[in-house]
Amino acid sequence: MLYYSTNGSAPVASLEKAVVKGLAEDRGLYMPERIPVLPSSFFDNIASMSFQEIAFEVASAFFGEDVPADDLKRIVYDTLSFDCPVVEVEPGIWSLELFHGPTLAFKDVGGRFMARLLQHFTTPGEPLNVLVATSGDTGSAVANGFLGVDGINVYVLYPKGKVSPVQECQFTTLGRNITALEIDGVFDDCQALVKNAFMDKELNAKLKLTSANSINVARFLPQSFYYFWAYAQMKKRGLADELVVCVPSGNFGNICSALFAKRMGLPIKRFIASNNSNRVFFDFLGSGVYSPRPSVQTIANAMDVGDPSNFARIWDMYGKSVDRIREDISGATYSDGEIRESLKDIHKRTGYLCDPHGACAARALYEGLRPGETGVFCETAHPAKFKDTVENIIGTTVALPERLEAFTRGKKVSVELPKDYEPFRNYLLSTI
Ligand SMILES: *Cc1c(COP(=O)(O)O)cnc(C)c1O
Repeated sequence: MLYYSTNGSAPVASLEKAVVKGLAEDRGLYMPERIPVLPSSFFDNIASMSFQEIAFEVASAFFGEDVPADDLKRIVYDTLSFDCPVVEVEPGIWSLELFHGPTLAFKDVGGRFMARLLQHFTTPGEPLNVLVATSGDTGSAVANGFLGVDGINVYVLYPKGKVSPVQECQFTTLGRNITALEIDGVFDDCQALVKNAFMDKELNAKLKLTSANSINVARFLPQSFYYFWAYAQMKKRGLADELVVCVPSGNFGNICSALFAKRMGLPIKRFIASNNSNRVFFDFLGSGVYSPRPSVQTIANAMDVGDPSNFARIWDMYGKSVDRIREDISGATYSDGEIRESLKDIHKRTGYLCDPHGACAARALYEGLRPGETGVFCETAHPAKFKDTVENIIGTTVALPERLEAFTRGKKVSVELPKDYEPFRNYLLSTI
């Protein structure tokens, strides 16, 4: 399979190049040159298959030409070391729980898959170095995804004193192939260091560098696995005929994976993209004009995005037609007040506790479901990840799950560096 750039002026790339480079030379996003349609026999049997078996079928359709079957199977089975169950909230409304992985958020799926696929492309004796700048959450998802993956070293750059203690311990206590670099500066300084390193020809000749960023094809394609698994679980219950899937969306990577699943033949009736107050996509569906703008801060902060990078993929997939996009996706947008109200109301009525992102998505189902339809919303993070906000809304305490608690007991180790490029460069060279 070859990958083309959504900007159309970069050469097509192999899977290896698309995964190692992340972004095309023309700054476009890579797209597979075709979206394979799975045979009807697969959908006939899907309700009797396991999550890993389903995921392997889906992965083979995309990556089977480029990765030997045994290797791909190991990558898929290692990635999915946790379940993504569908849980009934109340009749007609179901939660697809994507938070049972190491960092309690759906990004674990893509992060773990990408780490293992990158490892597949490393050469023994020539380690790959992943540089990632973080203001908090990305660092933990990437670091945990790569933890213990041979042949890859991860350097997480984060601004000293500007990351919450719970976030910080998720990448400073891991050890092994993960190194935390505590930069005496702000997030932008961390990002500038990473950019400088990628542009430094001399450095790149000595060290194999990659970025593991969120638009990587190896991060977004595997997210389609859990939509097939959700369908299988609903089919087993006889509830899969008119499924509506609602995705709380920020950068639109997650919903883009869902749209890929539909293109591959998954019978989902329609999708809802639920936004917080960052409503660029919602407005685009209304006006047909895409106008990015600066993001605003909300309580569902992983969706505080003013120019969603995966819009380019959706636009490309639907032949640049807003009407065709509207056939599959509708939008919703909620203020912090409405998200709070939704979280509180669902908890009070049903006992089910959402995180703010899940609550934003659930509300769109309560408001938008038509007679005969069954709604599934993505619960993208464990509510304890947003402990203070959630406790504040429901008025009772939320326990930290054991996995999150365990991070806080670990010993913090970091390398302190100034924000200037030379010391950072020298540090990287000293690791060879
Ligand atoms: C990243 C994230 C989102 C948004 O996902 P996109 O793929 O960027 O649309 C939603 N919820 C949580 C908890 C996230 O971490």
